[in-house]
Amino acid sequence: MTLARRLLAGSLVVVMALVAAIVLIAGGRLRDRLVEEKRDELARAGRAIALQWQPGTDPEMLAHRAGDALGYRVTLIDTLGVVVGDAEFGPEARRRLENHLNRPEIVEARNRGLGASRRHSASAGDDELYVAQRHPLGYVRVSLTTRTLDEIVRGAQRDVLVSGLLALLGALALTSLFARSISQPVVELRDVARAIAAGDLHRRPALSAPGEVGDLATALHRMAEQLATRLDALEADDQLMTAVLESLEEGIIALDERGTVIRINERARSLLGVSTPLPFPRELLPRDHTLREAIESALAGATTPSAEASLHERTVAVASRPLGTGGGVVTVLDLTMLRRLETIRRDFVANVSHELKTPLTAVSGYAETLLDDGIPGDQRRRFVETIRENATRMQRIVDDLLDLSRIESGGWRPNVAQVDVGGVVNDVFTAIQPAAAAKHLALVSAVAPDATHVRVDPTAFRQILTNLVENAVRYTREGSVTLRTRKTDEGVWVDVSDTGIGIASEHLPRIFERFYRVDAGRSRAEGGTGLGLAIVRHLVDAHGGRIESTSAVGRGTTISVLLPG
Ligand code: ADP
Repeated sequence: MTLARRLLAGSLVVVMALVAAIVLIAGGRLRDRLVEEKRDELARAGRAIALQWQPGTDPEMLAHRAGDALGYRVTLIDTLGVVVGDAEFGPEARRRLENHLNRPEIVEARNRGLGASRRHSASAGDDELYVAQRHPLGYVRVSLTTRTLDEIVRGAQRDVLVSGLLALLGALALTSLFARSISQPVVELRDVARAIAAGDLHRRPALSAPGEVGDLATALHRMAEQLATRLDALEADDQLMTAVLESLEEGIIALDERGTVIRINERARSLLGVSTPLPFPRELLPRDHTLREAIESALAGATTPSAEASLHERTVAVASRPLGTGGGVVTVLDLTMLRRLETIRRDFVANVSHELKTPLTAVSGYAETLLDDGIPGDQRRRFVETIRENATRMQRIVDDLLDLSRIESGGWRPNVAQVDVGGVVNDVFTAIQPAAAAKHLALVSAVAPDATHVRVDPTAFRQILTNLVENAVRYTREGSVTLRTRKTDEGVWVDVSDTGIGIASEHLPRIFERFYRVDAGRSRAEGGTGLGLAIVRHLVDAHGGRIESTSAVGRGTTISVLLPG
């Protein structure tokens, strides 16, 4: 039931109870009061009649006259209780009346001089009020039907009832107005409070309600404002936190005191391979021993130092610390790249040392031999020649390493210009011609008419072509080496093909790595350093291009370089 209805019903009950009480209590009082007054009046009338009743007076006549004059029923009763005169009965009827000596009012009058009684009269046929007066000749009794009294009381009660009903209607109208003026703002406040609780923080109550309801509305208004401000601040904090977490290189997982994951950044999701939406139980995280231990000890309130684990073929460092509020934070750092780089660096140092060791040993060995004065001149010359060859080889390795490190360090930027492919090919072919001629290899240039120029750093382009053509000549016993250009949407492709020994498919993806060689002995024997293709790949990358290779063992190889147009 609404507040308004309850107020209405309450006031209805109160007014009705009030009217009922007034009708019943006031009605009763009024009746008593009237009866009392009438009794006094009847007593006075009785006394007046008593004065008239003298010995010798005709009681019959006296009763009638007095009755007519007063408008009451006057009964004269002798000392024996016989009715000797009655205003409402003639002599005949009167004689049939019972002896009145035992009537209560007569009994009382006999004892005390005056008696009154109110009861039903068999002779009159209704309720009567009797007042009897003792008299030397008997009793004077004056009576009155109480019907008129009852009518007066009922009339009064009716009036009270009507006024009560009118008051009730008035009260109802007033209460309903009042109830509405209170309950409407209260209902509105309730709706607004419900909406705010449901998350609609833009709802505000009207502030026009009167009195305490108005105060309540103002308080609710202020509360909603503060709530919105705090939530905005919280949201901003949360966004900041998310931005910070997402920008971290580390994977972060936050758990609450029950061990439920309540926060996880994208990095952690990808490292741990979890896509379950938050929040989720920690059991859904990978079943790795190190990770589990880090989580459990953080939840138990202990910090764990960084420990390495292997997750989804990645090397990660897992560490954890407890949170002050219970729960904990676990960090996962991807070490895969670091470990790979360490391996590459170790291999590189080993490779460089290895590459330099052989020529160095030769140089120092021959130099030591030369110190011996007894060596004949022509032999001495051969030794010096070998020393020079090895020094040149070391020089080449160091040059290549320097080139590579310059390009790799990122400090080198191609100085791009429009370069005529034919001119560079001629220069490169001229330089390599002696080596090719020694093997009877033909150097063929097939520059396409629509791909005569490329946008490239001229020095880098010369180095790319030199390395590729040198390789082709180096690993080809007979046949030819062809340089072709072709235009595509992406730019100009330069293909260097040979009819040489080819590269087995398992080696093909790795030939661009530093010091990777299919046959190290052969490469060294042919003057290779194992760095040529690595340099080419870096130079092409620096131009935003691409390098591809196809090969068939025993039939030949094609290395293709795309230079974006
Ligand atoms: P290298 O100085 O040893 O030639 P590169 O980096 O130029 O070093 O090449 C790496 C390896 O790739 C070579 O050792 C060789 O085994 C293979 N290779 C490169 N080009 C060719 C080719 N045209 N034909 C066959 N094998 C090749």
